[in-house]
Amino acid sequence: MREISHKLAFAHDTQPTRYSDVFDPNNGGVQARVALGDAALLDLAVAAAKKAQPAWAAVNPQRRARVMFNFKALVEANMDELAHLLSSEHGKVIADSKGDIQRGLEVIEFCCGIPHVLKGEYTQGAGPGIDVYSFRQPIGIGAGITPFNFPGMIPLWMSGVAIATGNAFILKPSERDPSVPVRLAELFLEAGLPEGILQVVQGDKEMVDAILDHPDIKGVSFVGSSDIAHYVYNRGVAAGKRVQAMGGAKNHGIVMPDADLDQVVNDLSGAAFGSAGERCMALPVVVPVGEKTAIALREKLIPAIEALRVGVSTDAEAHYGPVVTAAHKQKIENWIQTGVDEGAELVIDGRGFKLQGHEDGFFVGPTLFDHVTTDMSAYKEEIFGPVLQMVRAESFEEAVSLPSKHQYGNGVALFTRNGHAAREFAARVDVGMVGINVPIPVPVAYHTFGGWKRSAFGDTNQHGMEGVKFWTKVKTVTQRWPDGGASADSAFVIPTMG
Ligand code: NAD
Repeated sequence: MREISHKLAFAHDTQPTRYSDVFDPNNGGVQARVALGDAALLDLAVAAAKKAQPAWAAVNPQRRARVMFNFKALVEANMDELAHLLSSEHGKVIADSKGDIQRGLEVIEFCCGIPHVLKGEYTQGAGPGIDVYSFRQPIGIGAGITPFNFPGMIPLWMSGVAIATGNAFILKPSERDPSVPVRLAELFLEAGLPEGILQVVQGDKEMVDAILDHPDIKGVSFVGSSDIAHYVYNRGVAAGKRVQAMGGAKNHGIVMPDADLDQVVNDLSGAAFGSAGERCMALPVVVPVGEKTAIALREKLIPAIEALRVGVSTDAEAHYGPVVTAAHKQKIENWIQTGVDEGAELVIDGRGFKLQGHEDGFFVGPTLFDHVTTDMSAYKEEIFGPVLQMVRAESFEEAVSLPSKHQYGNGVALFTRNGHAAREFAARVDVGMVGINVPIPVPVAYHTFGGWKRSAFGDTNQHGMEGVKFWTKVKTVTQRWPDGGASADSAFVIPTMG
């Protein structure tokens, strides 16, 4: 069987003792196995990173940026191969895999401007003969732990900024789709990145714990589900590291009575069902405001959902493909049953969906619930599948309160033609990323990505300037160059510039 391994800066001949299966979601079989590393392997990777990092930090930022430019061109040249590899393990359709990689490349484009971003601050004459300047230095060795659902974009969010700012970076991707991160690391080497600056270690909890406990890893960026994000945050911080840990989501789309319902249905179809709902910025909850809006929306939504085409990931006509594993398919179908048991109206049932010729694939048909209420656990928890839940609200106030009171606060969208309502909503809603007539408000690379409440632990976001802050530390120098005359008297009180 094909074996997927680590991407390390050294030859190693230790035989892995543990493996994890990598499935073919389109057909349901096992297509490869990935070697799971342990603390001993991580020690070697950290030692290689430690050796390589000082020289990389000393490379001037313009030259580091050149590696980013080269890498971007190489990824573009290899886009088809990468997208097929990504789809074959994840299950998302090829066009969506290209989008996954492209969103990551946009962070690399931001990193191409790293010389400008790292320029620092300077105050001439902060006191008599005194100048003050601040600049950012890399933290040293950083690590990233990433989820299965964006195996291109999220490794690039982290590795791009960490590397461009002069760090060595160790990536532990999801064991469910581990190949694309390895391929990206190979392309980085081809782009001119020195050995040891980006390594990929494969693994599961054992490797994550080793990363969190390793004294030479100074920062950990995590993206995954909330309970694990919380655990990673606590354990990493207890070990003295800086940690940013992004978690799960349950994003609401609020539909005001004046919204363009045809546009809303188009937007919702893509945002709720694209990538089989396996996106942390998906819109799995729709909230029509007022009974008339709910009735009209439901009428338009049902035929649109019934017209969705579920297919294998290479089907260019398919709207979405299979989910990642049989276990995840089962989990989604269990949540659908829970919704039924809790009293929601199951309008379209996607359970038991079989694709002809791919009967063992991990497909889940599109599912719609209406009359979902906030006390239901199927509403409170993340399902992460092609399931749209309609929660009816009577007023704008009630609609704002729903995402605000929810345990997750990643993204939210408002559909309206009313600028005042939109402004009020954006100001008041207790959620980190807001879309106004934009169903998936993932910020562009030079802004930053991050949710609130149980969607993110820690206080810096991914990429943009927040990413730069996370992967660097500020040093501030206060300097005086005496002219050789009489030296100043000793000062026994705190020096001031007054
Ligand atoms: P996951 O939490 O199962 O896994 C994420 C990472 O944690 C993987 O690398 C995995 O190997 C590791 N891991 C798994 N179990 C662990 C344990 N017990 N201890 C330590 N590490 C462990 O998440 P997933 O299923 O791969 O990804 C989907 C989740 O990620 C969803 O909840 C989704 O909302 C979330 N997500 C969030 C964002 C965001 O930016 N907020 C982005 C993408 C995905």
